[in-house]
Amino acid sequence: MSRTQVAIVGAGPAGLLLGALLARAGVDAVIVEQRSADYVLGRIRAGVLEQVTVALLEQAGVADRLNAEGLVHHGVELSFGGARHRVDFEQLTGRHVTVYGQTEVTRDLMHAREAAGLETVYEAGEVTPHGFDGTKPSVTYAKDGTTHTIECDFIAGCDGFHGVCRQSVPAAALQVFERVYPFVWLGVLSETPPVSAELIYSNHERGFALCSMRSTTRSRYYVQCPVDDKLEAWSDAMFWDELRRRLDREAAETLVTGPSIEKSFAPLRSFVAEPMRFGRLFLAGDAAHIVPPTGAKGLNLAAGDVGLLAQAFAEHYAEKSDAGIDDYSARSLRRVWRAERFSWWFTSLMHKFPETGAFGQKMQDAELDYLVHSRAASTALAENYVGLPL
Ligand SMILES: Cc1cc2nc3c(=O)[nH]c(=O)nc-3n(C[C@H](O)[C@H](O)[C@H](O)COP(=O)(O)OP(=O)(O)OC[C@H]3O[C@@H](n4cnc5c(N)ncnc54)[C@H](O)[C@@H]3O)c2cc1C
Repeated sequence: MSRTQVAIVGAGPAGLLLGALLARAGVDAVIVEQRSADYVLGRIRAGVLEQVTVALLEQAGVADRLNAEGLVHHGVELSFGGARHRVDFEQLTGRHVTVYGQTEVTRDLMHAREAAGLETVYEAGEVTPHGFDGTKPSVTYAKDGTTHTIECDFIAGCDGFHGVCRQSVPAAALQVFERVYPFVWLGVLSETPPVSAELIYSNHERGFALCSMRSTTRSRYYVQCPVDDKLEAWSDAMFWDELRRRLDREAAETLVTGPSIEKSFAPLRSFVAEPMRFGRLFLAGDAAHIVPPTGAKGLNLAAGDVGLLAQAFAEHYAEKSDAGIDDYSARSLRRVWRAERFSWWFTSLMHKFPETGAFGQKMQDAELDYLVHSRAASTALAENYVGLPL
């Protein structure tokens, strides 16, 4: 039996960043994670950080390496009809994004937590939140053959889409909105220089492709695939051939290929569970919402949620005010729905949808043409891509 102020379930970016922000605010927290630290670090996921996310990492005191090694991007390129068109974020919005892998964000947060002697329980089994509809919540977990109990004031459910916290809420108290897309992304990570200094989003008749990166020597590429494709059927050579076909001629000719160091499918889903608070349980990040990765919003939304949550808990303890706590769900959801809309729109614009046929392609062509020739339309894309304010 132990006691803390905030019990955090999940040591992904949401849980770790919340822990770091709370430590800065003088609020006690313990993180309980079902996997090992190495397993968490081995997951290859997001890579584009909004300025709001970078500011939160700075506030948490974990941005030194990010500021030294992160790649500042002032725009992206849209590829269609055999040509590339740049959308200049800096010119349109005065803002930018930073490319820095989620794995590195997680590593920095874990190291800082360890260095500060803050408690994280890894490899915790049967993690369960209790009593969050009353005044004495707790979290239990099994470790080394014993059941442990953490008594707390609040529980933060930062345990991702498949986590236990959302599932512990009575179904009648939750409203769920969902769309599953009829394709997946096949992603390859390779130790090769990126084909372009900025991300290339390609709309092609064979399907969507994305050229992204994690550093100047490490690239991350994706191609849209049917949902029933098998990973074993995709050799590295097949992947590179398919990617080349979906790029403009210059990019296809300069693409440097190499062995994949990670290759996986990612499903595309839009999902929101409302509300994000149930008594003393608060959901944050993927536990409450999922976006298709096209708009690079998943990690940024998770950071925004815990930014608001940390502030709300800090006000509760320091100022005896529950205004932030009471406002958390509505305030987060407003931002979440805007990012859901943008991610859904950008996904709809860039992918080949089996059911929309030639008419659908013509609509996409016309919209892309409008997008790159209208300052208003380009600004709308840029404004959403760099991220809306908290
Ligand atoms: C394959 C994949 C690719 C992605 N690519 C991109 C991308 O390119 N761009 C982008 O913006 N976003 C991407 N995302 C989304 C982005 O990675 C997530 O939005 C982000 O990880 C959310 O952070 P989180 O902390 O909320 O959840 P997670 O990162 O999922 O962390 C949740 C943590 O909780 C732990 N957990 C789960 N259940 C329990 C339990 N019962 N008890 C204790 N701990 C538990 C998990 O092990 C995990 O460590 C991708 C996601 C996936 C799955």
